[in-house]
Amino acid sequence: MMSERPVSTGNEVFARRESRVRSYSRKYDVVFEEARGSLVWDTEGREYLDFLAGAGALNYGHNDPDMADALVAHIRGGGITHGLDLFTRPKMEFLEAFEGLILEPRGMDYRVQFTGPTGTNAVEAALKLARKVTGRRNVIAFTNGFHGVSQGALAATGNRDKRMGTTLSLPDVTRLPYDGYLGSVDTADLLDRMLSDHSSGVDEPAAILLETVQGEGGLNVASRPWLRRIAAIAKTYGALLIVDDIQAGCGRTGSFFSFEGTGVTPDLITMSKSISGFGLPMALLLLKPELDIWKPGEHNGTFRGNAHAFVTARVALEKFWGDRSFQEDVVASGVLLGERLTQIAKLVPGARVKGRGMMQGIDVRDGSVAAEICRLCARQQLIVETAGPDDEIVKILAPLTTPTQLLHHGLDIIEESAAAGLHDVAV
Ligand SMILES: *Cc1c(COP(=O)(O)O)cnc(C)c1O
Repeated sequence: MMSERPVSTGNEVFARRESRVRSYSRKYDVVFEEARGSLVWDTEGREYLDFLAGAGALNYGHNDPDMADALVAHIRGGGITHGLDLFTRPKMEFLEAFEGLILEPRGMDYRVQFTGPTGTNAVEAALKLARKVTGRRNVIAFTNGFHGVSQGALAATGNRDKRMGTTLSLPDVTRLPYDGYLGSVDTADLLDRMLSDHSSGVDEPAAILLETVQGEGGLNVASRPWLRRIAAIAKTYGALLIVDDIQAGCGRTGSFFSFEGTGVTPDLITMSKSISGFGLPMALLLLKPELDIWKPGEHNGTFRGNAHAFVTARVALEKFWGDRSFQEDVVASGVLLGERLTQIAKLVPGARVKGRGMMQGIDVRDGSVAAEICRLCARQQLIVETAGPDDEIVKILAPLTTPTQLLHHGLDIIEESAAAGLHDVAV
């Protein structure tokens, strides 16, 4: 017989056993148990409004009923769960949906590479491929960019083919200022100048890697002209343009890809976070067909074939991206969010609104003020987080499906907290 495990009575096990590396949980000293749409409940039955949404992994909210039904039916029917990169029905149906609902209507021709199931791994794959294609090491990345946390896994791998011995070295990144970083200085001009001068100290890049809206870095938005200039510069100097759409993609800025309407066609696009639609691990790299020079297995991984994620990802595409109505709703919610945040920002001296679409926040210019606002929000059971170099931005990542009335409710809490927060912190 199995030994009886005592019924859990509290959260002491986390302090006892979980690594200190945990972060989000430090601000919410409760145990979460259930979730639906934009709401979550703790073990005491208290209800929270979720404006963090898995850091953008839950654009369609928690436990979408259609995705849940499809997933449960798949499991109950004995559907395959793990398939490495074997052909499986869920992968076939996902690819058909992605082709028919996302790529073809946008006139986009890309191959889909299923990487390991984290965003970081999709970025790793993009960087490796860019280096393999160009035979160059250097990569241009930008101030405040966030692209993941791996650095040593590949360096520690023995197999020379996997390490791509001659072209790959982990630290080869040149950091340059993002759009707006130097005030009125055009940082695309700066990049152009540095690349045109063989004595600038910046080596020819394999790739230029960017987010169109910097998620973790503080909701900095690249302008369309800047993005077009960067794309042109990449072409001129033989570098691949990689758009990291892991957070800004899947509708977050109002369109499926964040760069739609800019006239920019990236060579490589990374996606993760909300691509599975359900919060299941899944990541992919979109590559222009002519760049698909991988040898079989050259970038592999045990969990590339997460069939459960393929099932929910397919339902997400069919449910939300079959016509324009969802997209129109997201754009309307983004406008509402921007209007309300503009009013709220007036409560905090020097504050301003940053971001685009449903990826906006208030820069209150002081991390302690932003932390206090979030703490007051948490007391009113609103989950919301900060971003930016000094965590000085209160960043709203509500599910895109949040009903207008709940969006207002959350923003009311933020408004009250912003008004009250100032009195509690010495500014
Ligand atoms: C979250 C994120 C990543 C990393 O994804 P993980 O799944 O956490 O590895 C990479 N790029 C961007 C833009 C992100 O927001």
